Amino acid sequence: SMDFNGQVVVITAAAQGIGRATAEAFDRLGATVWATDINEAALAEVQGGAQMQRRRLDALDDAAVAAFFQQVGRVDVLFNCAGVVHGGTILEASERDIDFAYDLNVKAMVRTIKAVLPGMLERRSGSIVNMASVASSVKGVQNRFAYSVTKAAVIGLTKSVAADFIAQGIRCNAICPGTVESPSLQQRLSADGNYEANRAAFIARQPIGRIGQPEEIADLVVYLAGATYTTGQAHVIDGGWTL
Ligand code: NAD
Repeated sequence: SMDFNGQVVVITAAAQGIGRATAEAFDRLGATVWATDINEAALAEVQGGAQMQRRRLDALDDAAVAAFFQQVGRVDVLFNCAGVVHGGTILEASERDIDFAYDLNVKAMVRTIKAVLPGMLERRSGSIVNMASVASSVKGVQNRFAYSVTKAAVIGLTKSVAADFIAQGIRCNAICPGTVESPSLQQRLSADGNYEANRAAFIARQPIGRIGQPEEIADLVVYLAGATYTTGQAHVIDGGWTL
């Protein structure tokens, strides 16, 4: 159902990009949204009604995550959106880069899922959506080594949780976007000073002819929140990049 009245949605990395668009979409559909991020200034800009809760939450902070979920109580939908893009091949990825990508892209999800699962199991209901990427086990993408390793792990994590709790009313899906407009995409495109050329190259690899909008990814998260017959899947949403 597309009516989320009375439902509680928690989103990490909700201050900008896909997380923000998703927070605003659930808010419009009547949910009580907890929009969390480390960027408080950007969080304040997230649009929403009186029910919208904006909280500073560092997905890397074990104690803060536990305390946060204690405060929220019942959670119907968890969207693990926090993630970092590390650019470069295996030769440019230091042990620290890989550890950091793993901590934020994978272990942060382990932390939040552990925090919400007991309550979801008690109610025998819950939908978890994890942010992966087509740069993962889905597709080899140049210069995305640490990123692809960790986003592939997200897909494994997702299938494991889905398999373990499918009989208890819990669904856990991953989403795999292609290239999506966001503040961090803007940074990646300008990093080497060739913004226009980089943007043109990113668009050229999209069979659909354009980069995706965060609102289009938010639509899929909303769909998965209520799509009661799908679990453990890596849902590709990439403008035909892997077509
Ligand atoms: P973005 O990268 O522009 O914003 C990321 C947000 O994460 C920021 O608001 C930042 O403050 C927050 N954040 C960083 N560290 C955090 C932490 N420790 N705890 C909580 N929040 C933290 O937004 P985006 O590009 O929409 O990316 C969001 C997610 O989507 C990421 O996981 C990314 O890997 C994934 N993704 C993005 C694209 C794309 O092309 N934009 C494609 C596929 C997947």
